[in-house]
Amino acid sequence: MLRYYIAFAFLLLFLSPHFAQTSLFFPRNLQKPYDNGTRSWDGKPGPNYWQNRASYVIKAALEPKTRRLSGEETVTYFNNSPDSLDRIRFKLQHDRYRKGGQRAYDVTPSDVSDEGVRIESITLNGIEVDEKNRRRANTFLDISLKNNPLAPKTTTTIAVRWSYTLPAGEDAARECVCDSTTFFVPYWYPQIAVYDDLQGWANAPYNGQYEFYHEFADYDVTIAMPYGFQVWATGEWQNAADLLEKTYLDRWTRAHTAAEVVAVFSEKELAAGGVYKKAAQNIFRFKASDVPDFAFAASDHNNWDATSVVVDDKTGRRTFVSAAYNTSATDYPQVARIAADGIRLMSTYLPGYPFPYPSMTVFNGNDGMEYPMMCNDASTAPRSPMTLTVHEVSHTYFPFMMGINEQDYAWMDEGWASFFDYTLSDSLSNHTLGGVRGYSFVACTDNDIPPMVRSRNLSTGYRNASYQRPQNAYLTLLDLLGYDKFHSCMTTYMDRWKGKHPAPFDFFNTWNDASGQNLDWFWRPWFFEWGYPDMGIQGITNDEAANCQVILIARKGNIPVPLHLVVEYTDGSKETIHHTAAIWKDGKQQTPIACARAKTVKSAVLGLRTIPDTNPQDNKYPAGDK
Ligand SMILES: [Zn+2]
Repeated sequence: MLRYYIAFAFLLLFLSPHFAQTSLFFPRNLQKPYDNGTRSWDGKPGPNYWQNRASYVIKAALEPKTRRLSGEETVTYFNNSPDSLDRIRFKLQHDRYRKGGQRAYDVTPSDVSDEGVRIESITLNGIEVDEKNRRRANTFLDISLKNNPLAPKTTTTIAVRWSYTLPAGEDAARECVCDSTTFFVPYWYPQIAVYDDLQGWANAPYNGQYEFYHEFADYDVTIAMPYGFQVWATGEWQNAADLLEKTYLDRWTRAHTAAEVVAVFSEKELAAGGVYKKAAQNIFRFKASDVPDFAFAASDHNNWDATSVVVDDKTGRRTFVSAAYNTSATDYPQVARIAADGIRLMSTYLPGYPFPYPSMTVFNGNDGMEYPMMCNDASTAPRSPMTLTVHEVSHTYFPFMMGINEQDYAWMDEGWASFFDYTLSDSLSNHTLGGVRGYSFVACTDNDIPPMVRSRNLSTGYRNASYQRPQNAYLTLLDLLGYDKFHSCMTTYMDRWKGKHPAPFDFFNTWNDASGQNLDWFWRPWFFEWGYPDMGIQGITNDEAANCQVILIARKGNIPVPLHLVVEYTDGSKETIHHTAAIWKDGKQQTPIACARAKTVKSAVLGLRTIPDTNPQDNKYPAGDK
């Protein structure tokens, strides 16, 4: 009998609801951080919050003719966790091109190799790690510490020598062998994976689709190129004076305080010679601190425009902004200006938080892809490069400054970048550019998957759940809270989680806390539930007592959106009626909208370009009026 009771008690323990202090669906595998006090229910990092850290010293060289990159690095890894680590996990992201690697997209067969990244040596605290203590799977290399675990609050040093050949196919996602002497190089060094309080070692391999989750680190990187090449990279260039001849060094220096765009050099000037001091090689050194990754680009014929912009009015701090581009990219002469103006708006308007990095380079590559202080952006000519530039540069906030796990919660960064590319491009272009992503086209299909499904599980639903739906949710939230409250929630969120790893409930709970209102009624349908936004005009009735007509608006879908109605009366006058999504807060299915007194409605149109509506056919009165 006793045994029965004990068994029963254990059963109760497992079945009893966990103590989630939220009305939202709460996955029980996320409970531990709250029990351990690493995260708090009000959305703040908990009193026991910790984060591991790495410091990299890297020396690398790229041989353009063979595309062979070789490097050696020394990584100091700080275990700030309360756990003894029985292994250290490196990411070898280029192993996506190793034979048998998991790939979300096809790649050019000639880019696939048997070895992927060639590891020439790997030492742990100076001692070579033998083969039996290395395990290579997917895009990970695990070093076993079983015999000598890394204790809490201790440090270890790992040195790696490696090499690989840059993939040259046009389908090499996010990296670019743009021509025989122009390269954009990400995913290039053995990088320690994130070990966090949510899941331990991050375990989503890099398959080409699911992007960032990296640990904050410091970098001291030296890159050797043949004479005549320039390198642009994450961080600040340390040795410009060693390489550039005076004319070009002066221009580069001036651009750091100039408000106008300065041509550091042009393709013609490079071709004429005299840009660089005489040397056998051009060896570049960059330093960056508190960044989650490092990327670089190189070319011997790209033009270089640069300027700078004040990003913090309190301190006068500036960011150095560059565009490096092929002469054939006819949109690119605008890019440095757009990037600088965009960064200014990001610092002062949305998100309205000082741009955190000292440098930003938009490099004319083959994609639209962000890295800390670097973008690989294809030319968009003949279209304007504005929206793409703003989108990629704005990623600085999410997922970099806010260390988002994009492999699981891409809506926490792509949704924001999409929100910024619309709001900021709209503002910079006087409302001629910047588009709301067409969520309505996907909504109410079985490909419109709730964003809280982990991104790595989304497949064909990835784009909508990461970009369209959250962009529309955040725009609805801005309308709902109004700019001032929205901005104060954003600032609170950033102050709390800058340089850390916020997860979904840290976001929801912080915004609930900072807005002073429980927004779960909003988060639930937008992020957790299947559903769609759809409103319609149901009909018109008369309110005799108030002497007005009343338009009945139906909420047909569960996702709350603003109610925007333009009414035209028979006397020719017009009225615009706007309610935020809060009008649906109590869950009602219908709401009456009172029109002007003593007037007769001639026509009414419900909706706005920025408000998703799955079925707009019922948005007009009289019905069928086109
Ligand atoms: Zn993006």
